[in-house]
Amino acid sequence: MGSSTAYWLSENPDYDENILVIEPDPTYAQSSTALSEASIRHQFSQPVNIKLSMFATEFFSNFHDSVQVNGEAPELPFRETGYLFLATNDGMENLINNHEIQKECGAEVALLSPSEIRKRFPYMKIDDLEGGSLGIKHEGTLDAFSLMQGFKLRARHNGVEYLNNRVVSINIDENKNLVKEVKLDSGEILSCSRVINCAGPRAKWIAEMAGLELPVEPRIRAAFLFDCREVLGGQTLPLTIDPSGVHVRTDPPYFLAGAPPTDDVEVDPNDFKVRDEEWQENIWPVLAQRIPAFEKIKVISSWAGHYAYNTLDQNAIIGNCEKLSNFFFCNGFSGHGFQQSPGIGRGLSELITYGEYRSLDLTELNYDRILKNEPFLEKAVI
Ligand SMILES: Cc1cc2nc3c(=O)[nH]c(=O)nc-3n(C[C@H](O)[C@H](O)[C@H](O)COP(=O)(O)OP(=O)(O)OC[C@H]3O[C@@H](n4cnc5c(N)ncnc54)[C@H](O)[C@@H]3O)c2cc1C
Repeated sequence: MGSSTAYWLSENPDYDENILVIEPDPTYAQSSTALSEASIRHQFSQPVNIKLSMFATEFFSNFHDSVQVNGEAPELPFRETGYLFLATNDGMENLINNHEIQKECGAEVALLSPSEIRKRFPYMKIDDLEGGSLGIKHEGTLDAFSLMQGFKLRARHNGVEYLNNRVVSINIDENKNLVKEVKLDSGEILSCSRVINCAGPRAKWIAEMAGLELPVEPRIRAAFLFDCREVLGGQTLPLTIDPSGVHVRTDPPYFLAGAPPTDDVEVDPNDFKVRDEEWQENIWPVLAQRIPAFEKIKVISSWAGHYAYNTLDQNAIIGNCEKLSNFFFCNGFSGHGFQQSPGIGRGLSELITYGEYRSLDLTELNYDRILKNEPFLEKAVI
């Protein structure tokens, strides 16, 4: 998010101030971005989320030209698999409502009956299902690190500076209600005309430094890579979301699965421990039940990262607030920040440069709703 915003600001000829990205870990090893499953879908319940992903599709297809430096850019191949949301009777109303909203926005999606699911994916057990929603186009997997590198290389080429340091406090001009300085771990104090909080799962501590509350907390999300020798018949497995919340996708030649943990609570941002019992007790049994070929599988590796989990409504929080007009939020992406990064960076660059959104209106994602405790709920979350 930091590099995307820096990219968009530095590409905008109407923005002429210096841009500095402060990053304590230039390897990004523990960032959500590096640990992401890096997939994109158009199946959301909120039009603004659908449109953000549609813009990402457009951006990804022009990626090379948009970020190239002297004709070179990271590769960003797209593996188009679709997402398949499965529903029991309980989930059908939600599935159908979301489908209608997605169609209105122009998403290429199809509602499938259980027999249609069986026909396309004969390896799946469907006894308990009432239907499914399948993304026909533009949904699948890319590479989050390459996307970030593309933004970063081009931003640096445009003059953006990257500083290996950590923000430890923020000084406010109390008379003007403006941020005036940030203090770094090294002791250095930098004056600034604005601050953008792109600290991912640690965002609430940056907000706290500015005296602002942010309902975003680090929550663990693990990914399990496994091998299955049996060949699945029918079409390739889409990124499938079981009604239980377990999801699985291909990661050739393997498969990748995950789920929200049973005890989904805030964790220490330095806690990257994979909860193996989640796999044994909650994920594998569901996979084996849904796809009997997954009864015999072998876990190859696993890792855990953090969602920057917005406890109010699991949606992004974007923009500034009245109390501190030069402090900007870019937070709370929960499980969909990879795909939202092009549209969010573009939106923030417009808001900062022109005082308004000019391409896609992101007002619904503002900080005001947090103050008013008015959730802007996304019903299709993973
Ligand atoms: C397992 C997993 C699977 C996911 N799958 C998907 C998916 O399929 N599709 C999707 O769209 N999204 C997915 N996401 C979510 C997505 O990865 C995130 O929303 C996105 O990467 C967030 O980017 P970010 O820049 O906000 O945060 P990060 O990538 O975490 O970057 C935040 C940066 O802030 C820095 N920072 C922290 N504190 C400070 C400080 N005090 N001073 C300066 N810098 C600081 C950190 O070092 C870090 O580099 C997934 C996430 C996880 C964990």
